Amino acid sequence: MRFPIQLTWSITKHLVKNRLKGRKRFPLVLMLEPLHACNLACDGCGRIREYKETIREKMTLEECLGAVDSCDSPIVSVCGGEPLIYPDIVGLVNGIVDRKRHLYLCTNAIGLEKFLPKFPKSPYFTINVSMDGLEQTHDVTRGRKGLYQIDLTAIKTAKAQGFRVITNTTVYKETDMAEIEGLCKELTAAGVDGMLIAPGYAYQAIHDDIFLDRQGIYDKFRRLSGWSKRFRFMNTPLYLEFLRGERHFDCTPWGNPTVNPKGWKGPCYLITDRHYNSYEELMAQTDWEKFERREDPRCANCMMHCSVEPTVMRETGGSMRDAMVMLKWNLT
Ligand code: SF4
Ligand code: SF4
Repeated sequence: MRFPIQLTWSITKHLVKNRLKGRKRFPLVLMLEPLHACNLACDGCGRIREYKETIREKMTLEECLGAVDSCDSPIVSVCGGEPLIYPDIVGLVNGIVDRKRHLYLCTNAIGLEKFLPKFPKSPYFTINVSMDGLEQTHDVTRGRKGLYQIDLTAIKTAKAQGFRVITNTTVYKETDMAEIEGLCKELTAAGVDGMLIAPGYAYQAIHDDIFLDRQGIYDKFRRLSGWSKRFRFMNTPLYLEFLRGERHFDCTPWGNPTVNPKGWKGPCYLITDRHYNSYEELMAQTDWEKFERREDPRCANCMMHCSVEPTVMRETGGSMRDAMVMLKWNLT
């Protein structure tokens, strides 16, 4: 199966439970950013730029686990910044897995190998490594020579030790899709459990013109047609239809609530109007309908997975055709 059975079951249970309770909006993936500091300064990174004034701030371990407890999403994505430089990362990983929440640890993989003996081998734990191209592109984007080989070695080591490992790759204006195909081949040979390929978001904090507009995204992602049969994509087939411009999905901004040292970031993972003191305040005080309909100008070119995949998750049951497409995809 594309998604482990345990994860599929947890998501299905969560959707059914919330529908039975009549909840219209509920969290699917908590984006937990314990810090924004990083050991790199990648060209397309909005976080280290948006939060440069508070880059030294960190959530305490208690604040992190308190956020996990206050927001009942089945999945927690620990990101940042670089989570492996968070001093309590081992306690945080174990604390989330002990709560039987599915944890995705998003990392640039620098130093990953030394943490592997301290991380749990659990169906609730997945390592998600960002890979932005083949060797030359990856090293240039990351601003450090040799990183591609370091990251690939870390992926292979984690796989050899029995961890579930996926990758995520951001597509920019200059991205050569033939190179992305080469990367998919290399990562498949390394044994990864899945690959997410998505366009970048044009963060206001980044002034360089490196991001794709909608038409540019359609053109790039039409090149991926048929690749799902060759590679283990984590992009759902319905999200790929959206990326090719074949259908529309509203946004589900509340599906991925984001918390960081400044508080609960609203309205969404990508844009920031303010930070709230609690998850309840974020949910109660945001004009969700405006963002669901993508009416804000900052939503114009947003085709990010965090906007669309939660919509896919909650809408799939409404169409027999979509349900069959998703079932077939998950079983392959
Ligand atoms: S590794 Fe991730 S968090 Fe660090 S600078 Fe690059 S994109 Fe940003
Ligand atoms: S469409 Fe708008 S509200 Fe939704 S994730 Fe993108 S930027 Fe955020």
